[in-house]
Amino acid sequence: MHSITYLTLDKDVRQLRQSDVEAFAAQIQGGVLNRGDDDYDKARKIWNATVDRYPALIARCLNDGDVQSAVRFAAAHRMLTSVRGGGHHIAGNAVAEGGLMIDLSGMRTISIDTAKRTARVGAGALLADLDRESQARGLATPLGINSTTGVAGLTLGGGFGWLTRHHGMTIDNLLSATVVTADGAVRIASATSEPDLFWALRGGGGNFGVVTAFEFQLHPVGPEVYAGLVVYPFAQAHQVLRAWRDFTANAPDNLSVWTVLRKAPPLPFLPASAHGTEVVIFPLLYNGDPEEGQRTAAPVLQFGDPIATHLGPVPYAGFQTAFDPLLTPGGRNYWKSNNFSKLSNAALDVIIAAAARLPGPECEIFVAQLGGAMARVKPAATAFVGRDAHYIMNVHGRWSDANDDERVRVWARQVFQEAAPHATGSGYVNFLTDDEAERVAASYGENYPRLQALKQRIDPGNLFRMNLNIAPAFTPRLEASP
Ligand SMILES: Cc1cc2nc3c(=O)[nH]c(=O)nc-3n(C[C@H](O)[C@H](O)[C@H](O)COP(=O)(O)OP(=O)(O)OC[C@H]3O[C@@H](n4cnc5c(N)ncnc54)[C@H](O)[C@@H]3O)c2cc1C
Repeated sequence: MHSITYLTLDKDVRQLRQSDVEAFAAQIQGGVLNRGDDDYDKARKIWNATVDRYPALIARCLNDGDVQSAVRFAAAHRMLTSVRGGGHHIAGNAVAEGGLMIDLSGMRTISIDTAKRTARVGAGALLADLDRESQARGLATPLGINSTTGVAGLTLGGGFGWLTRHHGMTIDNLLSATVVTADGAVRIASATSEPDLFWALRGGGGNFGVVTAFEFQLHPVGPEVYAGLVVYPFAQAHQVLRAWRDFTANAPDNLSVWTVLRKAPPLPFLPASAHGTEVVIFPLLYNGDPEEGQRTAAPVLQFGDPIATHLGPVPYAGFQTAFDPLLTPGGRNYWKSNNFSKLSNAALDVIIAAAARLPGPECEIFVAQLGGAMARVKPAATAFVGRDAHYIMNVHGRWSDANDDERVRVWARQVFQEAAPHATGSGYVNFLTDDEAERVAASYGENYPRLQALKQRIDPGNLFRMNLNIAPAFTPRLEASP
């Protein structure tokens, strides 16, 4: 190994001595990679292909001790530091160009306590890992809808999916977390141990340290649930989306009906004539007895005249992977998202008009129906403040040719701007892009000052700044030179 050039927290260029790097590598059980090593390219790549960064070093951590060594090394050298869980965040903060990437993807161990209905989950686990282990016991906790997402990033930003209306957000089911903070200490955060840190971790993203393990509450789920899709032609968009909005306003907590507007993929249950045309899709899941689910969700089939339906009893863990084929890694992606407390006709009109000018066959607008148990938690109870986000819209620009980068981004930004007057003004940090730092404070709303004060106490030097960053409350002012 030669000496290594790296970037500091202030983006100054520095050199690491070969002996320092070798001593560091000897402390990391999972090994340390640098450019040229086998596996380096694989390890630096993440879900969003527009992010193509080269860390100076990648620490492949396998346990708390590895993470502690990596954090201490980063702090000692003031290295720009990133933390990688599942590598799915759209902003690409998992990879520090020229810095140290703390890679947790080797920490995927999961253990379930069936009697207590709890799961202890390593910080590199993917949603599929946790769903598989918990569903083997007929249990689950609310997670997202794409099974290759990392549990860590999803949880730290909030986390919502098909079970959120029934059992709350992922953070509402978090019982404790093991965290390595910027000072290198290993801390346990829970309702009774470091409760301030525990509060901040539930929505505050990667700002407060490196979480090495999470403990979750599980609930009986399935293993079969009533779920699937109802697809309508785009010509009926106004009628069916208004009917959906009115129906979801009074739906029971255990039914979630989302909507996706996009060009129809060539799914076998869709007539060939619909492939490639704009459609309105209602994916839904009823968490309960499948027969009761069929009765409860029946109105979704009467919003208009569906092109096709694909509904029935399915394994919950299987439905959790249903959208994976549309969300594979390696595509170019850009998102803009708005939170809505209610969807006015005018807001729906904006969404429909935007779907009429989709810039590509993989682009889509989805709106998650939330509320229910999630909305009954007080905004100040966790760092995640947006409990009034009864609907979260994500404008998902997705394409493969770099020449289309600007065209798709412009479309997504326009939709966001047009929808903004109808939205709450808050945001979901798990959906913010790297050019949306100015939305972070609004996304935390009234919780932001408390988060800033905690950041000042726990990470005053802002070691963990590669995230949707919460600036420490006190930033020392530089004296003007004489
Ligand atoms: C295809 C797709 C579908 C999605 N669907 C949903 C959904 O249904 N519901 C939902 O709520 N979200 C969803 N998301 C958003 C998702 O929650 C975020 O992208 C989340 O950050 C992903 O976590 P990760 O660990 O995979 O990402 P990473 O990119 O690895 O991590 C994101 C950030 O979290 C921090 N971080 C990660 N791990 C740790 C750790 N152990 N300790 C400290 N900080 C850490 C770091 O700052 C990192 O930059 C989806 C994302 C994608 C790409």
